[in-house]
Amino acid sequence: MEGEIGSGDGRPRPATNVEPELAAARPRRWFGHAAHDQAPGPFRPSWASPPRRRPFRGTRAVSSTRPSSESLVTLDGSRGEGGGQILRTALTLSLLTGRPFRISRIRANRDKPGLRPQHKAAVEAAALLGNASVLGCEVGSRDVVFRPGAVEPRDLTIDVGTAGSTGLILQTLHLPLAMRAETARRLTLIGGTFNPKAPPYLFLERTWRAHLATLGMPVALASPLAGFYPKGGGRLEAWIEPARPKPWVRTTRGDLARIHGVAGAANLPEHVANRMRDRAHARLSEAGLDVKVEIETASWSSIGQGAAIGLTAEHAGTAPATFVGVGERGKPAERVADEAVDELLDFLAVPDAAVDLHSADQILLPLALAEGRSVYTVSSVTEHLRTNAATIAAFLDRPIEIEEAPADGRPGRVVVG
Ligand code: ATP
Repeated sequence: MEGEIGSGDGRPRPATNVEPELAAARPRRWFGHAAHDQAPGPFRPSWASPPRRRPFRGTRAVSSTRPSSESLVTLDGSRGEGGGQILRTALTLSLLTGRPFRISRIRANRDKPGLRPQHKAAVEAAALLGNASVLGCEVGSRDVVFRPGAVEPRDLTIDVGTAGSTGLILQTLHLPLAMRAETARRLTLIGGTFNPKAPPYLFLERTWRAHLATLGMPVALASPLAGFYPKGGGRLEAWIEPARPKPWVRTTRGDLARIHGVAGAANLPEHVANRMRDRAHARLSEAGLDVKVEIETASWSSIGQGAAIGLTAEHAGTAPATFVGVGERGKPAERVADEAVDELLDFLAVPDAAVDLHSADQILLPLALAEGRSVYTVSSVTEHLRTNAATIAAFLDRPIEIEEAPADGRPGRVVVG
């Protein structure tokens, strides 16, 4: 069975799973799907006490953020890094634990606070997958209540409707699909595939996928169309195998084997990709790296214009680390290359970091759901990492320790369990 949401018809969905009193409050804001009797019950990690199903009162005041099976999880969406990640992690964990949550002050300190279209698309997609009822799911909303029903794994097509990140929606749905499906499921996402400050396709394909493979969670990815701001229209396809994450311990990094990359552009003159490639070559050769550097150029299909460069460092014993610079109007190609090179060199400067700064917060969630202890070293402890740990702690009774990276080339460390 395939479900579809997005900008396609723009009509409100049937609200068949709506709490009556909340539906009365804002009926068009609710979104739900009839529950299916044969669908499996909520995922319960073995270390957590089973959630007790109690009648949900969307209007009651709940102050606890501790992992209690009796309370609504409440989250302040402006805490820590304060971005959409808090919401997305909460959606994933709500689907997997069956626990409802309320998030207020969503992205309160951002320029455009509240839900942006890609956050709304993530909430809708999670609601579709989990037969959830939702309050406050509209662009600009700063307060969302999400009450999951039974997760019903299925193939999904989701159109963000803007150039919003497809990768972030993939990451929201990946764990519930992998951990609850009995056969491989396909996700087709339409929107941005190269967004600044979100996982770009090259990163997902080369790095995120490799980390997941290490954790025993195979995913295949394809992107036949690139999507850039402002037109979007990119396509990300994912085939997700049923799997449960395994714990992982890696506190060192092996030797650097090679660096390879791709400088690509869509509907722009050929010199753009060439200049990104040449700048990256020049910077990496200046850095005196003792390995082969191979960067190819590519011409990508897209309905819009855009450019990006991805540089991947392959070390023995850990997943490849990919750093991406994304072009924008008025930003010289050389600066785009510099952004990727700077991140790569920062990573290489911390020799015992097994995990790059972006993967660090992204692998934390599967590892928090794995049975057993995980330990990994990171090149940098980011606010995203700390904030994700805090969001996970609101749902799961799982100790997560983060040791800061001292400023002397030694890595930070994350211990789960
Ligand atoms: P906001 O717009 O409020 O910042 P958001 O929903 O766009 O919110 P964040 O909450 O900032 O996103 O989360 C961004 C996620 O993207 C994080 O998991 C971060 O690790 C990841 N990320 C950011 N930049 C990169 C990159 N260059 N490569 C890989 N992953 C990235």
